[in-house]
Amino acid sequence: MKLEIDQQRLNSEIETLAAISDAEPPAVTRIVFTPTDLKARAWVISRCEEAGLAVRQDAIGNIFARWNGADPTAPAVGTGSHIDAIPNAGKYDGVVGVLGGLEAIRALQQSGFRPKNSIELLVFATEEPTRFGIGCLGSRLLSGTLSADAAAQLKDNNGESVNEVRQKAGFRGSLQDVKLPSGYYKAFVELHIEQGPLLERSQTSLGIVKSIAAPASLRIAVEGAGGHAGGVLMPDRKDALCAAAELILAAENAARSSGAADTVATVGVCDVFPGAVNSIPSRVKMTVDLRDTDLARRNGAMKAIENAIVTISKKRGVAIQQELINADAPADCAPEVRTALADSCRDHGFAFLEMVSRAYHDSLFISRIAPTGMLFIPCRNGYSHRPDEYAAPHDITRGALVLAEALAKLAGSAQ
Ligand SMILES: [Zn+2]
Repeated sequence: MKLEIDQQRLNSEIETLAAISDAEPPAVTRIVFTPTDLKARAWVISRCEEAGLAVRQDAIGNIFARWNGADPTAPAVGTGSHIDAIPNAGKYDGVVGVLGGLEAIRALQQSGFRPKNSIELLVFATEEPTRFGIGCLGSRLLSGTLSADAAAQLKDNNGESVNEVRQKAGFRGSLQDVKLPSGYYKAFVELHIEQGPLLERSQTSLGIVKSIAAPASLRIAVEGAGGHAGGVLMPDRKDALCAAAELILAAENAARSSGAADTVATVGVCDVFPGAVNSIPSRVKMTVDLRDTDLARRNGAMKAIENAIVTISKKRGVAIQQELINADAPADCAPEVRTALADSCRDHGFAFLEMVSRAYHDSLFISRIAPTGMLFIPCRNGYSHRPDEYAAPHDITRGALVLAEALAKLAGSAQ
C-alpha cells in the first residue's frame, strides 16, 4: 500500500478553515455554536461528503463522518479532534486532527485500500471550555463521563443553558442519546499538535503519547476581615490575601514534593477584594489546577493542599471554602494503538518520542470507552492557544501519513 498525503490540499484546507473566524487573521476565534462555528462545521461536513463519507450529527453537535468498511456492523476505528477555538487562538489546535484525519482517509481511499472495519472521522463538539466552562463536553457525553442531566444544566455567560444554545443552533434530540453504545469503537487515534516544546527541542517530527495527564481543579474562597491599612495593627489582622499567599505556596509545594516531575500545580486566578492600596484584603477568590499522569499521586497532592487549607484557616483565623470543579482520572494509551503508530514510524524510518500529553484532549474521555492513542506533531516554540501557533506543513503531512497507516492497520484490510 503506497499512500500519498496531498500536502497542498491539506494545507490549503487548514488556511480555508482558519479564515472562518471571528478574529483578525492570523488569529482564530471560533466559539462553539456561534454563526461562525456553524459555518465552519458546514464547511467541514461538505468536505467529508465530497470524500464520500456518510455524515451524521448527534444532539450536542458531535459530527461523525464514516467510511463504511466491508463489515459495516463491526466496531469502527475512529479518528478526529475539534474545530472550536478559544478567543484569539491559532489555526492548528484541533484542526490538524480533523483535516489531517480527513486527508488520511482520502489517502487510503485513493490507494485502493478497502477497510474491513469502518473508519470514522469524529469532530468533537465544544472541546474548549470557553462557552460552557467545562472542556470536552462532546466527548464527556459520548463516553458517559458526564450525565446528560448535568450537561443540560450548564450555562454560558449569557445565562443560556446548553439545551437552549444547542437547540437554537439546530441540534435537537435528547442529550441522553449522545452516549455511544459499548464497543462502538474498536480503537481511536487523535492527531494533535504537541502544545509543548519537547518535539521541537529534540528535532523529532512525531510523538507517540503513552499517557494523558488529567486535571483536578478547585475553586477556593478565602474570607478574612478587611479594614484600614493604617488603622488595624498586625496582631489583629485576618488578611485574606496573606492566607491565600500561603495557600498558593502550599499548592506549589504539594506538586514539587510529590516525588515526580509529572505532578504540576497552578494557581491561575486570584481575585482580591476590595483591591485598594490602603485596604486590608477581606476576600480572595482563587483556583487551583492540579495535574498528574498518576491518579493516586495526584490525589496525594490534593490531600496535601486540603490539609494546608485547614492549617492556614486555623492559624490565620480566616474561613476558607473549597469547591471541587472537576477531577478527571488520567489515562494510559492503548498498547495496540501505540504499536500501530510505532510500526508505521519504523517502516518509514521516522524517529519518534514516547511522551506524556500534559494538556488533556477528547481522547482522555474516549479512552474510557475504547482503546485510544494520540499522535503528536511539533508546533513552533511549543506555542498554542495564540495567533502565532504554527505547525510546519511537512510535519502535518508526516503525521497524517502515520495516522493513515495506523488506521489501516487497526481497521484491517478487506482484501
Ligand atoms: Zn485541541
